[in-house]
Amino acid sequence: MKIRIVLLLSIISIVSSINAQNYQTVEDINNACSTLGFSSNEEAELAVDNILDKIGLFRNFTLQECPNINNAVAKNIKNDKGYSFRYILYDNAFFNSINDKADNNWAATSVLAHEIGHHLNGHSLNNEGSNHRFELEADYSSGFYLAKMGATLEEAQSAIQTLKYEKATRTHPAKADRLLAIKRGWDKAKEDIKTKENSIDEDNDVPFAIIENAPTFPGCTGNNVEKKKCLNYAIRNHVGKNFNGGIASDIGIPPVCLKSEVVFDETTNKYIDSCTEWKPLKIIAQFIITKTGDIEIIGVRAPHPLLEKETIRVLKLLPKMSPGTQRGIPINVRYVLPISFRLTD
Ligand SMILES: [Zn+2]
Repeated sequence: MKIRIVLLLSIISIVSSINAQNYQTVEDINNACSTLGFSSNEEAELAVDNILDKIGLFRNFTLQECPNINNAVAKNIKNDKGYSFRYILYDNAFFNSINDKADNNWAATSVLAHEIGHHLNGHSLNNEGSNHRFELEADYSSGFYLAKMGATLEEAQSAIQTLKYEKATRTHPAKADRLLAIKRGWDKAKEDIKTKENSIDEDNDVPFAIIENAPTFPGCTGNNVEKKKCLNYAIRNHVGKNFNGGIASDIGIPPVCLKSEVVFDETTNKYIDSCTEWKPLKIIAQFIITKTGDIEIIGVRAPHPLLEKETIRVLKLLPKMSPGTQRGIPINVRYVLPISFRLTD
């Protein structure tokens, strides 16, 4: 049993080019992999999302589960019209087995990261297979991505460590060179993270749009995106409920018509101009949700001082929130709130 495993692992680096040769067209892939439908499993999708999320890049490939290829492969494949598509094909049983061999959950992720590295480095992987430069670049990227995701160097290298064949092949560099490429990528990412951490200025505020972990409005739950959405909704709801729009008409701000149409008025039996679009009244408020979760108003721009006063009154009624954090540290978050309402006559 043990011998079989060793043999299996020793051919991994060679297998990628052998299996890859079989698929010449998108149709080939569909035929070979269609037993599972044209999809991949959720775990692999999430792993890819996680990697891309950490490096802030978008997918430029299709992820496709393909059983029995005993590997993961990045491929550029043409369809029958000659258009080229980027694919990552992977064998889920292979992922499970490499995680078992490496005895951690990073090994499969690092293989995926390596294949993502091929696509994001723009390697054109045709049916001639790979070359040493492409492989070292993809290994460097996988080390870089895994460091960003929080893996140790040992975890980032663990998939390649399972290879028993140490020498270079036609398509793949020697094991030691691949381990070194991963280390270089890993070191580079760690350097970046350190510079960023040093440059974090707790007195600076971070815009709401880019905050890592948004402030939480009381009662809001879920992940960062859901909490942001919920907070946006809650603040608008709060303003809508509490803002006294009557002030605008009390002040006597004249409504401005942007668009009108001619209609027949039956009470006067005359054709008159009827407004179909009123100019909205705009107020812009900027405030900080502080690192203690309080509201600190920076400024309000409104067409009249009384409207500014009313806006400030309403914002001061906002409840205490739990603060936003950046790399785990509570931080001031800047929020811009446009308030817009329409006056009609
Ligand atoms: Zn590769």
